[in-house]
Amino acid sequence: MTSEQKAQYEGPEELKDILKRVLAGRKFRLECGHHVTFNHNLGNDIVIQNGKELAVICSLCSY
Ligand SMILES: [Zn+2]
Repeated sequence: MTSEQKAQYEGPEELKDILKRVLAGRKFRLECGHHVTFNHNLGNDIVIQNGKELAVICSLCSY
């Protein structure tokens, strides 16, 4: 990776900041049929399957 390419990447804090602003406290039904509540200690972890179309499923269903 060139230094120019490296400079295009924002850090994990920027990513978390975006997610926190949008997701804080919200509840969703995922594509696997399970549910997630953000910022809840016992909430499911999620996996974002990347690609032209994103798919969001819980971590247990990602295996
Ligand atoms: Zn699931």
